[in-house]
Amino acid sequence: MIELQAIHKSYQVNGVAITALTDVNLHIASGEIFGIIGHSGAGKSTLIRMINFLERPTQGKVIVEGVDLDSLDDEGLRQFRQGVGMIFQHFNLLGSKTVSANVAFPLEIAGKSDKQSIDKRVDELLDLVGLKRHKNKYPRQLSGGEKQRVGIARALANHPRVLLCDEATSALDPQTTRSILQLLREINERLGLTIVLITHEMDVIRTVCDRVAVIDSSRIVESGPVSQVFLHP
Ligand code: ADP
Ligand code: ADP
Repeated sequence: MIELQAIHKSYQVNGVAITALTDVNLHIASGEIFGIIGHSGAGKSTLIRMINFLERPTQGKVIVEGVDLDSLDDEGLRQFRQGVGMIFQHFNLLGSKTVSANVAFPLEIAGKSDKQSIDKRVDELLDLVGLKRHKNKYPRQLSGGEKQRVGIARALANHPRVLLCDEATSALDPQTTRSILQLLREINERLGLTIVLITHEMDVIRTVCDRVAVIDSSRIVESGPVSQVFLHP
């Protein structure tokens, strides 16, 4: 489903090349929850952003559902990205919009204008994440876990096949983290959604991932089923 082939990525900073990824090869299967773990600066953010081409490789190919992302023009990429949801460490909600309006936003961006069908979809999504009673609140009135539930509802609005999670539980306490991971697992099972997450926390990987890749100083140093990569609890 997601294929990264011989990826190399460097950033140019004041004429100096900073290497973020070196010879990365990954295959992520449809329907799995795939974790990428590593220390700060290892290359995790860069790697997850390759999957929706928020960052482009310096060398190598990114192929998602058989499509080489490099072959897409701007419009093709825009459409492709509607099939890839993303959630963030700091939620990235719009503070001036209600919960409902935040979740409706990607539907509007995608060109939907029928208010009734937008409302129906928003209600469905808020039901899925357990937030219907908060639909008219603003993000500042919600707890961190509730904000991330809004983020998840928003990410799922356009029926994506892939959900990318960028340190999605790093700002949350352990109990809230567990409830968000449980929700991700439910969504994975119910919708058959492929989930890719990055984290610096081993517990997150152990709790929810099927397979894991360990990244260190821009390279994948190990990958496989979680039970094999992390032998002991
Ligand atoms: P992680 O997510 O594991 O913390 P990153 O992918 O953010 O790792 O960073 C990997 C390396 O690339 C680091 O050395 C970081 O400083 C560098 N880097 C990341 N983004 C940029 C950028 N936009 N410009 C320059 N260097 C960057
Ligand atoms: P983080 O909190 O993980 O560091 P940033 O604050 O760097 O994330 O936000 C990344 C930006 O990329 C966001 O402002 C968001 O608007 C944009 N973005 C997020 N997801 C997508 C997506 N799926 N497609 C296109 N753009 C996105």
